[in-house]
Amino acid sequence: MYQSILENVAQILERVKILRPEGGVSVMAATKNHSREEALAAITAGVPLIGENRVQEARDKWIVRPPVPLHLIGHLQTNKVKYAIELFDVIQSVDSERVAEALNQRAGERRLSIMIQVNAGKEPNKMGLHPEEVLAFLARGDKWPNLCVTGLMVVLPQARDSSIEENQRIRRYMQEMAELWRMCRREGFPWAPLQELSMGMSGDWEWAVESGATMIRLGTALMGPRIQK
Ligand SMILES: *Cc1c(COP(=O)(O)O)cnc(C)c1O
Repeated sequence: MYQSILENVAQILERVKILRPEGGVSVMAATKNHSREEALAAITAGVPLIGENRVQEARDKWIVRPPVPLHLIGHLQTNKVKYAIELFDVIQSVDSERVAEALNQRAGERRLSIMIQVNAGKEPNKMGLHPEEVLAFLARGDKWPNLCVTGLMVVLPQARDSSIEENQRIRRYMQEMAELWRMCRREGFPWAPLQELSMGMSGDWEWAVESGATMIRLGTALMGPRIQK
């Protein structure tokens, strides 16, 4: 069962090891529109982390939680915050002060791990802080004592074609984001240890690993094409 998922996972874990022999890259399976069984196959094959985009889909799928950490990587509506906090180990998709505020309010006793979503190309159709807004956001941390920022979650423009120019354009964004991440870490904000740079998807993950990503988020490359519902 799910032989292709097992093969994809084995191949990609092997390739990551070649690109980063010293380790330090975790591979997330982004399992939106894929079944619980498919996701469990990826975990069995060695994927250490599951990412879901929609709170409702994740609640339905993970009534019994997966045996690995579960991260939210899609936009969080503030009316779903309560469920998101119950279900997810990390909310990677914090894309506004409003969401941070709502999470902080609902966090209760728990110190919530979040990441800041950064819209690297400032694309109007994508959520996330613009790169130049990230430092100011981090400087406001004392407003949200129940949150801990464990990383940046970068969303990138897609390459329009496979030309060298497009390749270079996307890599330039990645290098800028890696530089932004290192700069934010150097600031040493107590609420923002920023261990992770979550960057790279199926079409560009090898470049992301080369640029310093510590986490890549793979959907189609691991799970196969998504069936739209
Ligand atoms: C769907 C999704 C991914 C994985 O996309 P693929 O291109 O299928 O690898 C990664 N990150 C986010 C935020 C996503 O929504």
